[in-house]
Parts: sequence; structure tokens; C-alpha cells
Amino acid sequence: MAGEIDGTSGGSVPVPTPETAPFWAGTLAGELRLQRCNACGRFYFYPRPFCRYCASRDVAWHTVSGRGRLISYVINYRPLPPAASDQPQVIALVELEEGPRLLTNIVGVAPEPERLPLDAAVQVAFERRGEQAIPVFRLTDHT
Ligand SMILES: [Zn+2]
Repeated sequence: MAGEIDGTSGGSVPVPTPETAPFWAGTLAGELRLQRCNACGRFYFYPRPFCRYCASRDVAWHTVSGRGRLISYVINYRPLPPAASDQPQVIALVELEEGPRLLTNIVGVAPEPERLPLDAAVQVAFERRGEQAIPVFRLTDHT
């Protein structure tokens, strides 16, 4: 299970809604939970009460692997308030093994392009932010 880490990437505290509450309950428990459609079998994100592919309302929450690949990123040299840190921040698009893509942060690596190869394997971690925990990702095969 991914460990909890200090809030180094900064940013605002998420506010759960009825639709996203199971997602945020998962992150607090150290799990990445996504909805999967029972009709077509596909995972999707962000949370909503119907499948984004076939509009079925027969959907259920599942804990997923937290493994994915780095699809693209930008290095933000001037994180916006209320960022907790003035260090450059890696804002990344990660594609999970299960298919959905998340806009997230890459942590635990110097924010330099030579350290951030596209298609690198990443693993979710959870960063405490206020009363919530947000999913961030670490590289798992960098050298
Ligand atoms: Zn579906």
C-alpha cells in the first residue's frame, strides 16, 4: 500500500460531493477507487452516477492497482497559491492500467525533463492536504 506523504506539491483542499465521496474515502484509506460500469465493463473517471461510455447507471466502485504510465506533463515553475511550496511542480497526465486518465502531480523526482521520460511507469501515493488526501504519483522505474 502506498504510504502517506507530506504535502509538498501544494494546492487546494478538495471538497467531496455525494458523487465523489467514495473516491475521497478511498484516498484517505490509501486506496485508489474508481467506478466501473457493469454493463460494458469499462472503468471511468471522474466520478459520476452513470457510465461515460454507454450511459448505464449500473456502475460500482472498485479499488484499482494505482499503477499507470506517464502520458504527458508540464513543469509549473510558479505554483499558484495556496500551494504549500514554491518548488517547481510537475503537473502530469497519468493513464492508469485500468484505462482512465488522471490529471495529477508527479512527486519524489527532480522536476527536470531528463528525469521524466514519457511512458515511465508510475505508482499512486497519497498526499495529505487538510482533511483530505489527494492522489499523486511516483516513478517506479526511473534510474
Ligand atoms: Zn458502460
